[in-house]
Amino acid sequence: MDHFQIINGVLHVEDVPLPRIADEVGTPVYVYSQATLVRHAQVFRDALLNAGVDNPHIAFAIKANPNLGVLRVLAKEGYGADVVSGGELTRAMAAGIAPEDIVFSGVGKTAEEMVQGLKSGIGQFNIESEEEGRELAAFAETMGLRATAALRVNPDVDAKTHGKISTGKAENKFGVAYDRAAGIYGRLAHLPGLEMRGLAIHIGSQMSSLEPLEAAIGKLGALIRDVRASGNNVTHADLGGGLGVPYQRDAVLPPPDDYGAMVARATKGWDVRLMFEPGRVICGNAGVLLTRVIRVKASASNTPFVIVDAAMNDLARPALYDAWHDFDAVAPTGQTGAAHIVGPVCETGDTFAMGREIDTVAANDLAVFRTAGAYGATMASTYNSRGLVPEVLVSGDRFAVVAERIMPATILDAEHVPDWLD
Ligand SMILES: *Cc1c(COP(=O)(O)O)cnc(C)c1O
Repeated sequence: MDHFQIINGVLHVEDVPLPRIADEVGTPVYVYSQATLVRHAQVFRDALLNAGVDNPHIAFAIKANPNLGVLRVLAKEGYGADVVSGGELTRAMAAGIAPEDIVFSGVGKTAEEMVQGLKSGIGQFNIESEEEGRELAAFAETMGLRATAALRVNPDVDAKTHGKISTGKAENKFGVAYDRAAGIYGRLAHLPGLEMRGLAIHIGSQMSSLEPLEAAIGKLGALIRDVRASGNNVTHADLGGGLGVPYQRDAVLPPPDDYGAMVARATKGWDVRLMFEPGRVICGNAGVLLTRVIRVKASASNTPFVIVDAAMNDLARPALYDAWHDFDAVAPTGQTGAAHIVGPVCETGDTFAMGREIDTVAANDLAVFRTAGAYGATMASTYNSRGLVPEVLVSGDRFAVVAERIMPATILDAEHVPDWLD
């Protein structure tokens, strides 16, 4: 079911027409559908439960969309959080996610972040190196605590996704080398400051096939047997995130039910509590970036430039990963034509699409970039001294600004001319 629909010729998010949001909040602005978030959270969990995965622990990877309002929606659905920084940990707690449901991932946790995690009583640290494990153990011991932890393993499997979001190949910085993992696990398990309880993987993002994941899970299963054979406990296995979403209308991706069935099959007999860290698949399709056409500019060829008021600083994915976002007029006339879609930022990289067949739009028309709910607002910057893009959450016929637009003047207020230049 889709909560982004044309009603009387105008694109709505749930029951709210997008022009209303543009009028009240301005553009560009991210708009999220609460009903879609809830639905995705439920579909993902049901897919696991229906396949026979007992009591899955699901931690939303909040780097995909850390907005407080969005996190509160998912907290109410019983989701935990996978965090990768102290800032994200603070957000997860502020959203009301129980500390025991928080997993702390990341290859570069600082001393301060480890201490913050320990003080907060989080449920699990996903340790990414023996060095990190030893440091964490020492902090915990000093504080009179034991850190509950899993060891993230790099299974050396190619996720077959964009190179910049592939994380499970041997040359990637994440996790410990597969061959060394059992040894490291055993050594860390002996440290008094650590309660080693599991193993974790996360091989990449926007995966369009389940095969790499199944291969990685197979390797994880073999490792669990090795670790147990050397006398250590494994009660938890964290399978990470990575499921892709359809960025193009006709794209075919593995349905959650297939994912659930694969997981159940691949983990049969493991006798662990399974943990999951979905990000994009929960929030990607729950958001659009609403933008206004500034003007349409003729080009050297016959294909015009549609210049919109959203730019690479608001939605970085096309510039960063050559990503595709469908572009639709909010009030389509039925006419279409080829155009280049660009933002106002002074970089050629500020290009959303070249020579794309799109709804014909004119100056002042509203349009959306679809599937912008994941890795959208969270990657925004103020490059070109633009404001920080706001976010709106819709529920039924209501909407609320869940992140304000931060104006260039506010950012300027935080800058100072040193006194020697006065
Ligand atoms: C980013 C990340 C995720 C989520 O990835 P998605 O592709 O958004 O599902 C999960 N776990 C870890 C450790 C991550 O870094």
